[in-house]
Amino acid sequence: MSQENEHVKCLIIGSGPAGYTAAIYAARADLRPVLYTGIVPGGQLTQTTDVENFPGYPDGVQGQQMMEDFRKQAERFGTDIRFGYITSVDFSGDVHKVVVDGEKTVTAETVIIATGATAKWLGLESEQKYNGFGVSACAVCDGFFFRKQDVAIVGAGDTAAEEATYLAKLANKVHMLVRRDDFRASKAMQHRVLNTPNIEIHYSTEAKEIVGDGQNVTGVLVYNNQTLEEKLIPVTGFFVAIGHKPNTELFQDILDMDTNGYLITKSGSTRTNIDGVFACGDVQDHIYRQAVTAAGSGCMAALEAERYLAAKEHAIA
Ligand code: NDP
Repeated sequence: MSQENEHVKCLIIGSGPAGYTAAIYAARADLRPVLYTGIVPGGQLTQTTDVENFPGYPDGVQGQQMMEDFRKQAERFGTDIRFGYITSVDFSGDVHKVVVDGEKTVTAETVIIATGATAKWLGLESEQKYNGFGVSACAVCDGFFFRKQDVAIVGAGDTAAEEATYLAKLANKVHMLVRRDDFRASKAMQHRVLNTPNIEIHYSTEAKEIVGDGQNVTGVLVYNNQTLEEKLIPVTGFFVAIGHKPNTELFQDILDMDTNGYLITKSGSTRTNIDGVFACGDVQDHIYRQAVTAAGSGCMAALEAERYLAAKEHAIA
């Protein structure tokens, strides 16, 4: 059933660090932003445990708590935060149309897209059971917890290669599980992995199950997909680095994207190819993917939306 339409100055899609930071800035600039959270309010960080690298939390913070703090701060300045999922967009006109939950249409003078990216997982039950308790999809975020310990990483692309070398600096030993007998990563990245003495590469090897004591990871049961031979590798950390998927299906054929589906923004800016539509956070960043960089680009998006509206009003006056 269709509901009445609503018009807003600034609509923010997504509730991770980028979306909430954009909301804080937009609200303080009096744009009266409306933010739709999506189906995972708080985004990827709500699925992790300790966050120790976000500035301003000297003792670290739980991911859930941090996103709660972001939300409260955005609300404090008047952001209208709503639980809802955007099901379609139409950016062809002067004002942008967004449909919420297939029912309600909101028109907006500016739209800030902060829909993030989703880490790909192997799909093992044990992987979700120990997610945040030894299993992670972000070495830069969680590698520090495994200093001087043995860890495993799965994947053979540039991300896996980069994360394996990052982990090798912290961990005692890194077991790299490569499902084929070759890497997908660029030659330069492969070279770095092959020349790191504490990385052991297990070719044609896949994870069968992550093993734990009910609380934390204690090992990974792997099998060789050629010989079907199984073995248990004792590790306390298990990193999944098989790629991310930006949440951009909604914008297919509407906004410019790269071959992996990441939104393309103008250099040094959060502007997309459509006037008044801005993108920030992981949805447009496959390189850094950090909460702090997402927050920084959220700030940029709100400032750019504010300037865009000011220029538009000036042109009309
Ligand atoms: P990719 O898609 O390039 O690589 C994914 C890797 O994961 C592949 O090796 C793939 O194996 C493996 N994989 C996928 N599914 C499974 C599974 N179920 N079990 C085991 N292994 C699996 O993703 P990346 O995140 O590595 O890279 C994405 C893009 O970002 C690329 O274009 C990359 O070049 C770029 N990038 C660039 C960086 C840089 O320049 N510094 C850093 C990081 C990323 P298989 O090879 O067998 O398919």
